[in-house]
Amino acid sequence: MLKTRAQNVASATWSPNGEALGTVDLTKDDNNPFGTQVFSPAVQKELLPKDVFERLQATLEHGEALDVSLADAVADAMKEWALERGATHFTHVFQPLTGLTAEKHDSFFEPNREGNWLSKFSGKELIQGEPDASSFPTGGVRETFEARGYTAWDPTSPAFILENPNGALLCIPTAFVSWTGEALDAKTPLLRSMDALSKSAIRALKLLGDDQAKRVFTTVGPEQEYFLIDENYFFDRPDLVITGRTLFGAKPAKGHELDDHYFGAIPERVLACIMDFENELAKLGVPIKTRHNEVAPAQHEIAPVFENSNVGSDHQQLTMQVMQRVARKYGLVCLLHEKPFAGVNGSGKHNNWSMGTDTGTNLLDPGDTPHENISFLFFCAAVIQAVSKHQGLLRASVAGIGQDHRLGANEAPPAIISIFLGAELTKVFEAMASGEGDPHTPGSFLELGSEVLPPLPMHGGDRNRTSPFAFTGNKFEFRTVGSSQSLAFPNTVLNTIVAEAIDELSDTLEAKGTGDLATAVTEVVKESYIANKQIIFDGDNYDEAWHKEAEERGLKNLRNTPDALPEILSEPSVKLFGNYGVLNERELESRYEVWLEQYIIRANIEAETADSIARTMILPAALRYLALGDDAGIAAVTEEATPLVDELVAAIKELDSANQYPEGIEGMDLAVHARDKQIAGMTRVREVADKLEKVVPDDLWPLPKYAEMLFIR
Ligand code: ADP
Ligand code: MG
Repeated sequence: MLKTRAQNVASATWSPNGEALGTVDLTKDDNNPFGTQVFSPAVQKELLPKDVFERLQATLEHGEALDVSLADAVADAMKEWALERGATHFTHVFQPLTGLTAEKHDSFFEPNREGNWLSKFSGKELIQGEPDASSFPTGGVRETFEARGYTAWDPTSPAFILENPNGALLCIPTAFVSWTGEALDAKTPLLRSMDALSKSAIRALKLLGDDQAKRVFTTVGPEQEYFLIDENYFFDRPDLVITGRTLFGAKPAKGHELDDHYFGAIPERVLACIMDFENELAKLGVPIKTRHNEVAPAQHEIAPVFENSNVGSDHQQLTMQVMQRVARKYGLVCLLHEKPFAGVNGSGKHNNWSMGTDTGTNLLDPGDTPHENISFLFFCAAVIQAVSKHQGLLRASVAGIGQDHRLGANEAPPAIISIFLGAELTKVFEAMASGEGDPHTPGSFLELGSEVLPPLPMHGGDRNRTSPFAFTGNKFEFRTVGSSQSLAFPNTVLNTIVAEAIDELSDTLEAKGTGDLATAVTEVVKESYIANKQIIFDGDNYDEAWHKEAEERGLKNLRNTPDALPEILSEPSVKLFGNYGVLNERELESRYEVWLEQYIIRANIEAETADSIARTMILPAALRYLALGDDAGIAAVTEEATPLVDELVAAIKELDSANQYPEGIEGMDLAVHARDKQIAGMTRVREVADKLEKVVPDDLWPLPKYAEMLFIR
């Protein structure tokens, strides 16, 4: 059998291989794995002395610093709990600016003077760590000679145990900061932004007559898209291994045109794998709720129940990690790249976002009393105003090289940020703006007295899949986030821009003085809506006509990463983050620099990988094909193949020279070079290579093809 065929047959074969979950009945309470590896409040309550538990809860509630005696007691209980679960080591998990998760493991055990090996874990070790993390990119915030940053325990995100076939590890979520207090990570600004939003929202709630709420939490429920492909193909594709996406590959005869995959039955092996990683995630307390097939062949989605932004963001990092790890047990590889296959749907991560009070009210839920409606319209207007004012920053928060292939590709939202409100909500806002009702919006609504304001007719039923930022009933869904991205920064941005807008609206409301509240709020909402309605768009975001119209409306269209990143350092961004104490200018600059550098490095890795594959795998295959034609003396074959090979060689040379950086350029200039020369050069090489794939004999072609990767599982 040909090598390729043998590989296909191997890939199509699978057995649970002793790794299956077995016959455990997961519907029985005793078998429910949820949270079994989490040092949850319930576990703490059981294991900590009563007074320690109460002091810890009080500290967390008031956001105060922990004192050492308390930390010692918690550390002790945590260690005992972890040892019982086989953990020999602990780690402070943190999220450096690479968007990934970092961990350095320390043993609980140390020898004593008698030479015995004893376990030890102090409050100090729990609270603070000092990883020698000098190799993480910091964009100049912390020069290496300034030595170390430190990690600080985040007690609001529960510690958990990661299992490995050869042992277990206690993971402690931490923030990572420099000794001068600057954030070197993704978590610190997210926490700061949650505080900022809470403060603004509580102030607004007071103005709106709610004295009960003490704290407002932002919430996130991410829908994660991903591909699962057989590892036989993965390891045969240097581009997938090294860059996470295929740099070559002709479109197969069958794609997703038949719509036979979306919500289709999930193949047995794939479902077994998904169930396994859901089970692992459940143990870690990640509340996965939904699974289904996505549009592209081999593409799927999972979504958890929403949590507060900090825990939700930590859990999302964990989700990506666990999915990738567990997939390997099934001979599969989980691809989280935004665009692993050209011409096939890419993957995003819908970031469902809302705000809720500690008294249990979702501020973006219309509710069914006039009072709730007033508050809802106020917060909804704040979101619209925030997104309108900071559209560029929001776009920049999801910039990344993988995204540049996805956004605007007629399957993902465009790079233009706009808001979809749905027909009913639009009608309400429009009626307020114009002062005119219609048969569906009762006239009394426009009289605006709180007594007569009717319940808003809100079903959240209508959807617009093409919108980058959509109201979906009781939350906004930011759909532009990329599948491999950390949720931390997009949510930091969302929280902070909305905090600012809430304050702006509160200022106006205060200035209106003490008249009828409903009338005053309605005026504030109306003014804000009229000033920002250019951001509202309910039509087809894929349509070319929209791109023209958006330009006429003055909306930003930041097509790629080098275009988008400067928004982070724009004047309104710097002011915003500074005013709310979320990121100072140096912290912002460091992020800009790190992300620009990541773009440049990744582009270069892709360009060099493409060059190497083209030269050492594709060109030789093409030459063999050429020789076959010559040997057979078939002029027609030679005539077809020769110009293609010539074209390939020319394109490779061009890419070669693009891969030599011009003398002395750096920063944004280098990013532009990467985009316009290296990435463009790769595209040209790919064009010819993909044509060759369709004529070179199958047994000579060195890379698994799209049809194999996407359909054989
Ligand atoms: P759909 O595909 O229709 O958007 P899904 O069920 O796949 O719906 O996903 C909806 C997501 O929205 C879930 O992750 C859910 O937890 C999240 N979500 C629901 N309510 C909120 C909320 N108040 N705040 C944040 N996320 C929410
Ligand atoms: Mg959704």
